[in-house]
Amino acid sequence: MTEMSFKQILLPIDLGHPSSWKRALPVALDMARAYGAHLNVLTVLPDMGMPVVGSFFPADFEKKAREKGEEALSAWLKENLPDDIEADAYVAVGTIYDEIIAAADKLGCDLIVMASHRSDMKDYLLGPNAARVVRHATQDVFVVRS
Ligand code: ADP
Repeated sequence: MTEMSFKQILLPIDLGHPSSWKRALPVALDMARAYGAHLNVLTVLPDMGMPVVGSFFPADFEKKAREKGEEALSAWLKENLPDDIEADAYVAVGTIYDEIIAAADKLGCDLIVMASHRSDMKDYLLGPNAARVVRHATQDVFVVRS
């Protein structure tokens, strides 16, 4: 029998979509307590994409967006995280699934806990970001049905 051990959990959430954490957060908290793991909460602000579109925005647009994201995420942590959980919060800007995978590697995570969908669209079983993370991340991924 393999002995499982997780020390760094990554919980990627979309602050605009409560279904991305409603069921995933309690699972991540249980796992953190069970394994004595540290929780890393990540939210990704999608970037502007094409430079031609990006050029319509002021030069410090990304910096401002990142600051707003950090404020919103720290408010979320205050509201949703119990005191017994050790956690850090991270804001990334870019392509959602790429940033989730990069953060998991950079932070030395050994488990990613994520909801299968952000929205209530149930046409398919796994959302596009969840599918890509499951496929490409080298870590174990716990997909919580949302
Ligand atoms: P859908 O498009 O059907 O909502 P996704 O694959 O985008 O499905 O969402 C699944 C999961 O991907 C979410 O529960 C969350 O864990 C992660 N995710 C989606 N958007 C973001 C985001 N902006 N920042 C961090 N994680 C995200």
